[in-house]
Amino acid sequence: MVGNEGGGDNPPTSHKRPRPEAGGGGTEMDCGDGGGGERFDYSPYIKPDYKRLYPENATYTEFKVFIEATNNKDRVGNKSPIYLNHIFSSEIKGVTAIQRINANKIAVIFKQYNTANNFINNTTFLNKHEFKAFIPAAQIEKTGIIRFVPANISNRELYTKLSSIYEIIAIRRFTKKVGQQRVPLQTVSITFLSNILPDNVQYDLFSYRVFEYVPPLQQCFRCFKFNHSARICNGKQRCSICGGEHLYKECDKPTEICCVNCSGPHLAISRLCPIKMKKILEKKNKITYASATMTKQLNNDIEFPPLSPPKIDSVHKPVNKPVHAFVNKPVSVNKPVHNVNKSKVVPPKEDIKAQIVANNDVLMALVQTLVELGNKGDNTPTTMNSIREALLKNFK
Ligand SMILES: [Zn+2]
Ligand SMILES: [Zn+2]
Ligand SMILES: [Zn+2]
Repeated sequence: MVGNEGGGDNPPTSHKRPRPEAGGGGTEMDCGDGGGGERFDYSPYIKPDYKRLYPENATYTEFKVFIEATNNKDRVGNKSPIYLNHIFSSEIKGVTAIQRINANKIAVIFKQYNTANNFINNTTFLNKHEFKAFIPAAQIEKTGIIRFVPANISNRELYTKLSSIYEIIAIRRFTKKVGQQRVPLQTVSITFLSNILPDNVQYDLFSYRVFEYVPPLQQCFRCFKFNHSARICNGKQRCSICGGEHLYKECDKPTEICCVNCSGPHLAISRLCPIKMKKILEKKNKITYASATMTKQLNNDIEFPPLSPPKIDSVHKPVNKPVHAFVNKPVSVNKPVHNVNKSKVVPPKEDIKAQIVANNDVLMALVQTLVELGNKGDNTPTTMNSIREALLKNFK
């Protein structure tokens, strides 16, 4: 877990000049910034001995642990609920629910962080049933990116020197393959022990703004559909060349290129595929806030379903969790609400909220504003007034 730092026990230094680091993975390259020609390691740096456990101060209402079989053929998700209920209720304390995630995975829910952590460390139980247990990263970790980080600062140095209100547990520098070489980029991802991102991280006096990280689109190399891996694929093996039900290596009509997803004349993995392109864009649009609702819209081109009244009863209940802290303020700006709902009779307060969420124009204006605020490169302060102005502009 400690990356490729094995042999090199050099304590990180406080000066900014790069220096060669021992350990594998380093390649000879010119960084193009005066630090060229040095041997440099760009492998991820992860906090030594890091093990994913719920932090003591976690404020969740439930603590989720995922379970898979150590033997990949044993599909935990397909086991009988009677069996699962039995082993968990008789052998493990503090379990409040069990959920099937997919054929290979179940989630076990605990009410307390320490019972969840104890379960992770309960090798007797896990070995006996041939389970492996882990806390889903999304529960306790959040990855953001910072930009314009000179390539001559190593991941380890960044790990040592960057500070934040949340603990940093991993640093990864983005690289690009050029020929046989990996060339470092100026973007670095930072994983925090937190389920929200800090606004900034500090490198000495210098403050880097932290942006949301959007992971690349996952494409299955078995069925060539998206957002799952071949390991858990329930689909048939397809050929990425002709779309037939065989491996591409066994393709007998390699000249008849036909995409599995859109039947177009390109490989199933090609970025020329309009379906793949759409998925990539969907993913990008998920950045910042209001993601879930927006994706639904992009996916199906359907209207937002009206929310059921009980759900919007509570003033504080967020419709879409990540939005809430940010959306509450813009929503209270009355003018745009009336503007966009002009075709309707002005409804009672609770209905207005439902309509805002159900109205794509309003939602997109909110998203647009949040994205703009999130990408704002300058250092002018973000005030209620500036948010209001940006929002009103986007409503036009
Ligand atoms: Zn698949
Ligand atoms: Zn084929
Ligand atoms: Zn295609």
